[in-house]
Amino acid sequence: MRMAQERIFLSPPHMSGREQLYIDEAFDTNWIAPLGPNVDAFEREIAEYTGSLGAAALSSGTAAIHIALRLLDIGPGDRVFCSSFTFIASANPVLYVGAEPVFIDSEPETWNMSVDALTKAFEDADREGRLPKAVIVVHLYGQSARMKEILALCNRYEVPVIEDAAESLGSTYEGKASGTFGKFGIYSFNGNKIITTSGGGMIVSDDEEALNKARFLATQARDQAPHYQHSVMGYNYRLSNLLAGVGRAQLQVLEERVEARRAVFENYRTAFGELKGIEFMPELPSTRSNRWLTALTLDEEKAGVNISDLLAALAADNIEARPLWKPLHLQPVFAGSRFYPHSGTLCVSERLFQSGICLPSGSSLSAEQQQRVIDSIWRSLEKVANPAR
Ligand SMILES: *Cc1c(COP(=O)(O)O)cnc(C)c1O
Repeated sequence: MRMAQERIFLSPPHMSGREQLYIDEAFDTNWIAPLGPNVDAFEREIAEYTGSLGAAALSSGTAAIHIALRLLDIGPGDRVFCSSFTFIASANPVLYVGAEPVFIDSEPETWNMSVDALTKAFEDADREGRLPKAVIVVHLYGQSARMKEILALCNRYEVPVIEDAAESLGSTYEGKASGTFGKFGIYSFNGNKIITTSGGGMIVSDDEEALNKARFLATQARDQAPHYQHSVMGYNYRLSNLLAGVGRAQLQVLEERVEARRAVFENYRTAFGELKGIEFMPELPSTRSNRWLTALTLDEEKAGVNISDLLAALAADNIEARPLWKPLHLQPVFAGSRFYPHSGTLCVSERLFQSGICLPSGSSLSAEQQQRVIDSIWRSLEKVANPAR
């Protein structure tokens, strides 16, 4: 029997070592809670890094999407188009505001929002006289969606875009930061993301007035008055000054984190790229993916194993891997929602979900750890005598 080996995680937090300096400074000046100089600086630094005019720091990426929907005045009776192939947090805020989500399938080239499906959804909505009040476009696993075509379509119908860039901080599309193409972009600093504040989020925009309103809504929507007065419904959604300090130190190493995750991806591709039946998530030309997670699909007939076999083999070796996101139109909580497939015969997100897997991709993954993952996968492939070997 093999000795139990240390666990390898999918995407653990990776501290730079400088976070503590910001936390100590906050303690020394007693700027513990809420807001403070780190929050202002973190907002400025994210705006500068992404090239957006401004940013508002919030308690999570989910909160940022919720605030974006509120800023666009979306409520009961309104429709919101949203990528189907994503984490539930992309669409939960649509339910928070009482609106109706309509889910859009993925396309094979980016695994993100299908322009064909979006076109069809717009045509139907236009005919029904019920255009959506926003489109939430997700950049999954760090790969940018086809923004030029998506924006052209949304502009034609005059519908604002919210970019869910929770997974794509550090990615670019035609040289410009992912998350800065729509009316609003949102980032997440949850513990599993490419940089983390343990929990946190950010909304970016070129509309300073809207960002001020975001800060207002996120601090209980308190009116300017000597007493506590509130004219609209608000939230307690701001990021704490302590966590913003962690974020500032993390942002300084973001480029290194992107390089490290891209190197992890390249190692997997070198190890398995020639193998029949394995396909890695594509990278659209003129984009740079941060390769937040290395994602691939397995064709069971050609590879000889399916993802359940592979997940079980990795789990037995104490390695954390995951299936790809289950499409939201298949989630029980969204049962009955409308869904637009890529084509009449092809539902891309369902196919990806059935055949795809994410491998350990952390920027702190050592060469030895990655070799353990690669060896574990080879062992399960060899068990079925893969014809490529
Ligand atoms: C992580 C994530 C979110 C939510 O971010 P939180 O900060 O965890 O609330 C939203 N969308 C996607 C695609 C994510 O991966």
